[in-house]
Amino acid sequence: MLLTYYLMKISMPRTIKMIRMTIAGVLIGAGIAIHAHASAVVPIANRLAGKILLQVERNGEAWYVHPTHHTRYYFGRPRDALTIMRQQGLGISNRDLFRLFGIPPSSPPAPVYITKSVVLAQRLAGRILLQVEAHGEAYYINPKDLRGYYLGSPADALRVMQTLGEGIRDNDLAQIPVAIPGTSGFTAPHSVLPPLTTPPSIISVTTPSGSSDIKITDFLLWSNAHGIEIVGIHKTTDHFYYQGGKPEDFSDPKDVPNLLEVADGLYQIPENIIAVLKGKTLYVSHLNGRGYAVLGSWPEQNILAGMNRGVILEQQLKKENVVHEIGHILDYHGIRGMYEDPQNLFANLEPLRKEIFSVSFPYDPALVAPPVGYLNVYSTANDAENFAEHFASYVFRAQDFRVRAKRDEILQRKYDFFKNNLFGGREYAL
Ligand SMILES: [Zn+2]
Repeated sequence: MLLTYYLMKISMPRTIKMIRMTIAGVLIGAGIAIHAHASAVVPIANRLAGKILLQVERNGEAWYVHPTHHTRYYFGRPRDALTIMRQQGLGISNRDLFRLFGIPPSSPPAPVYITKSVVLAQRLAGRILLQVEAHGEAYYINPKDLRGYYLGSPADALRVMQTLGEGIRDNDLAQIPVAIPGTSGFTAPHSVLPPLTTPPSIISVTTPSGSSDIKITDFLLWSNAHGIEIVGIHKTTDHFYYQGGKPEDFSDPKDVPNLLEVADGLYQIPENIIAVLKGKTLYVSHLNGRGYAVLGSWPEQNILAGMNRGVILEQQLKKENVVHEIGHILDYHGIRGMYEDPQNLFANLEPLRKEIFSVSFPYDPALVAPPVGYLNVYSTANDAENFAEHFASYVFRAQDFRVRAKRDEILQRKYDFFKNNLFGGREYAL
């Protein structure tokens, strides 16, 4: 089973700075960033030395933190895995390998070894070992259980590393310097987000007037008819991520402020796309924050237990943000069929989606204007945001999108992708 893709963080560009502050604040407020508290004494990189880390706020990208020089290496493709194994691996003699695993080194490698010498295993924890007196077979000593894992081919190695990895948040990962490939221990500049402490605040509830009351009832009936569950929440996303959702965390969505913004967003989307939301839940929050796509639930790892696939929408609810989130669900589940989603209705679009929406350069949020092919800077963050931003723009900034697409071939391809493949030719006037 894949351990990745727990939760995709969503946000709109204008509020990105504020959003990051809120997230950092939520982390600290919830006491999750224990390391943040201890970081003055023990840097994160020291504590995570030798471990494999998976970027759970992105696409589960795997990083290896070198056990001694505490820089991180990206395990992007099998080729990267091979390079890291060769360059950062530690040669081990057959004699020491026998002491460590208790198995004659001439026997064919097993997938996992229980180490016989705890002292030696502790000394080698987090190391990649290369059997230099044989054919350079590689083993990884997992610091968590001190067992030896045979890495096999580069592709196998990548899979093993991803299985053994543990999730890390971008804020924490950013504190571990990136190693420049092909060097040992030389660090590249890296960004560290400042510690921030803005807690989420509660929006005061406004009583809906008679007419909006009817609209809300209509919307809940509409959702029900489409197999979409709408649930009110009054806990933070971090709470759900780590503690899971319990009945007392859920409430009647009728009381959630701005609920009709959700309706206004969803009503714009044609039925064939809405169908991707069937069986999913829209969690609408009383708390300030941003949007998140919940791509799954992993109760065995205590992540998002009791939560259904769908999105968490935090205040202030805005129809553009709602559609942006729906764009993520359409992309991950509808097109890419993530976690064998039953609503993988647009699987045939995956190759074209990849071709048109891949972002091949590093994200620079400080850009003052979007590059050619992008309507805004935030959509250059990664391919998922690229998709979701332009999806929302197709609906809510259609006029601007069309005008700019006339002078920009890439934008024209994006516009046509939505128009012809997803919206059945339907165009918007806004
Ligand atoms: Zn997003």
